[in-house]
Amino acid sequence: MAQDAMVQEGALDPGDGHVDGNAVAGALAAVFVPEITTALVRCGACGDAGPFAALMVWAHGPGVVGRCPSCEAVLLRYVATPGRVRVDLSGIAELELASVGSGR
Ligand SMILES: [Zn+2]
Repeated sequence: MAQDAMVQEGALDPGDGHVDGNAVAGALAAVFVPEITTALVRCGACGDAGPFAALMVWAHGPGVVGRCPSCEAVLLRYVATPGRVRVDLSGIAELELASVGSGR
């Protein structure tokens, strides 16, 4: 998808060439719809890659923590509160998902 095609028309442009996050909401909705367990995750700490389903997950606290199975770096933090979901994926260097409609 070309970069221009990812940006929705009508996004606020303050004149310096950037727009707000609403401009890519439609494109990112397509990215985050696929089944996450089949996604390929590359660890930001050690660089190893593997399926999301292979993460070591601790889900007994107030939130969920997912760690790299190779180096145990934190890759995912997830907390759900009334009316909100907070997700921290900052430990992930790259997340590769099948395209919507690719059948994979
Ligand atoms: Zn790692």
